[in-house]
Amino acid sequence: MAVPPFDLRRQLEAMGPALDQAVLEVLHSGQYIGGKVVAQFENAFAQSVGTAHGVSCNSGTDALILALRALEVGPGHEVITTSFSFFATAEAISAVGARPVFVDVDPGSYLLDLDQVEAAIGPRTRVLLPVHLFGGPLNMERCMALAHRHGLKVVEDCAQAAGSHWAGRPVGAWGDVGCFSFFPTKNLGAAGDGGCITTNDPRLAQRMRELAVHGMAERYVHNALGYNSRLDALQAAVLLVKLPHLPSLVRSRQEHAKAYGQALINFSGLVLPRQEVAGHSWNQFVVRIPGAKAQRRNQVRDALAQQGINTIIYYPIPIHLQGAYGHLGYGAGSLPATERLADEVLSLPLFPELTVEQREQVVDSMGLALGKVTTPS
Ligand SMILES: *Cc1c(COP(=O)(O)O)cnc(C)c1O
Repeated sequence: MAVPPFDLRRQLEAMGPALDQAVLEVLHSGQYIGGKVVAQFENAFAQSVGTAHGVSCNSGTDALILALRALEVGPGHEVITTSFSFFATAEAISAVGARPVFVDVDPGSYLLDLDQVEAAIGPRTRVLLPVHLFGGPLNMERCMALAHRHGLKVVEDCAQAAGSHWAGRPVGAWGDVGCFSFFPTKNLGAAGDGGCITTNDPRLAQRMRELAVHGMAERYVHNALGYNSRLDALQAAVLLVKLPHLPSLVRSRQEHAKAYGQALINFSGLVLPRQEVAGHSWNQFVVRIPGAKAQRRNQVRDALAQQGINTIIYYPIPIHLQGAYGHLGYGAGSLPATERLADEVLSLPLFPELTVEQREQVVDSMGLALGKVTTPS
């Protein structure tokens, strides 16, 4: 039996009738853009994060762009972020004309190393843009203290972290703005693209709302150059049905992660993700398989694939070494922890509907795969 990296159809089956009804209602209402369902979802999502405002948009990428634009970040400005993330994190910074400044990660958490941020702050720095990667929450008390000390704004990339908390407060409620993605494989997935921005600042919320609709303040009155970045009513309807299930979906992810941790703890040649982090939503369960030039990791991945276990590498090439960012001049070796992780990481299948049998199959196959490849010296 093959184990896929995720199984979106199984989740649909579980929520089937309610989802079908919600989608059909919108379809037959004739209101596909804006309207009651979109407003309802924005309110419900903001409430779940604990912020005063939720502004929906077309994607997590657009959420980041709209947030940076609303904070008036643009040409001549720098935004400090991590290179160990999905490309869109940095792409959004460049899209508003600013320059991404990459700081290395803490290899134990995979997250921005706050000890190294201060050295990267300069006169052009405007924003800290941390990423709660794989659902792992960054220490937001430290992050906010650092930002306040230097007069910087904070935009949280929560794309992989809907349902994550730091110190009991949801991610996306700590920074000036939180940016969420509803790409189907995220913790809260739409049936297509979608995103939402959370904030407590009414001025920022209003600006983001306008920017998402061509910078339009009232009908055909444009205060700024904006975007066409709306959340479809059909997607809002799907998300409204799924949102109440988010806490239990995250609990399932946490149970799978705990079980993986217990089952894999004695395997040698394998470094497990930190298990003790409270508020982790486990969008991914990412192990490290050390070995020079990714060779061992790739061998283990191939051996797993031969046994029907489908893993994914998030992310094989750090953003600072992507061709698109050659002009920034980061060379190989400039962010050593990030570069090492890119060679070592492997995401095991983890999604709420994963069965115990599938999980055990992954563990057994991992034992066989690790036995087949030579351990590093
Ligand atoms: C998915 C993702 C994004 C982009 O979200 P989209 O909805 O796909 O545009 C941004 N940052 C991170 C860390 C992501 O995982």
